[in-house]
Amino acid sequence: MTKVLFLLFLLLSPNLLLADGHIFVYHRFDDNRYPTTNISTKELRKEFNYLKKHNYKIVPLIDIVNKINSGEKVPSKWVAFSIDDGFKSFYTHGLSVFKEYNYPFTLFIAVKYTEKNYKDYVSWKQLKEIAKYGSVEFHSYGHGHYGQMTDEAIKKDMDKGLGLMKKHLNYDSSLFVYPYGEYDSRVEKILDTYNFKAVFNQNIGAVNGTCSDVNDIDRSAVVGSNAHDFKLYLRFQELCGVNFQQPKVYPKNKIIKTVEVTLNDKSITSADIFISNNGWTKVKVNNGKILWHANKHIKLNRIKIGVKVKSKIKLMVLSK
Ligand SMILES: [Zn+2]
Repeated sequence: MTKVLFLLFLLLSPNLLLADGHIFVYHRFDDNRYPTTNISTKELRKEFNYLKKHNYKIVPLIDIVNKINSGEKVPSKWVAFSIDDGFKSFYTHGLSVFKEYNYPFTLFIAVKYTEKNYKDYVSWKQLKEIAKYGSVEFHSYGHGHYGQMTDEAIKKDMDKGLGLMKKHLNYDSSLFVYPYGEYDSRVEKILDTYNFKAVFNQNIGAVNGTCSDVNDIDRSAVVGSNAHDFKLYLRFQELCGVNFQQPKVYPKNKIIKTVEVTLNDKSITSADIFISNNGWTKVKVNNGKILWHANKHIKLNRIKIGVKVKSKIKLMVLSK
């Protein structure tokens, strides 16, 4: 009986009833050479069937952007797909599945790979064909680590890539994805001058619409055979009103000493904090303040720090 009541409680929980929109990102399709960025089309079909069965509405990415820009709530069953980098395997393997389900998508290309005819990447001709079924947008020219490049080098890279897109595809790209999902306040400031309609990261999350930052929209990456993660991601909501105070930059000594976060919702009393490679840790929240003496050693050059309150989540990225 208690179990039934608990399940009923879960079903009636407003967190689950009022989910948000979700954006997923894929890279390679049926390309087993790169398991960390690959998804099999068999798995992709499984995910698409799940969405179909549960009445999700697959919308073009721009529809979600328009909701955010008008400050409206993104409907809970909205899902948008993006594909990064412009790998040839999207053209040879992924595209036909998207066509079969009639699902819109946005392909973000790193222009250099196409322009220089790199073997593993789509050609301009293929991009023109792809653009009949989805949209093609901008993911930098050289796919460099913007955090480590000078202002001038970033601008040069942006201008070159945008110019080539205009030349070959004959329009001005209005959506942008950070190479490697890496950014900081300096990079954001440069990006601001380009007046994109929206800029996307690669942080697991959801899109509420009313509190989402149009220049920092969360996308969850789906790789390998992780239908389980895919379903979990669909249940996440965006945790609104999160301010990451500490750490602000990647720590030189590779130790995250303290995590300090403030939450606008003062009624929250506990949360979970995530640090890459260190999992989740439960922490207390006092009057909207989280102060956790983490003392965690980090190994990766790019790490995520996240806050979760029940099914609401917000991540940020720090890179070396
Ligand atoms: Zn990329």
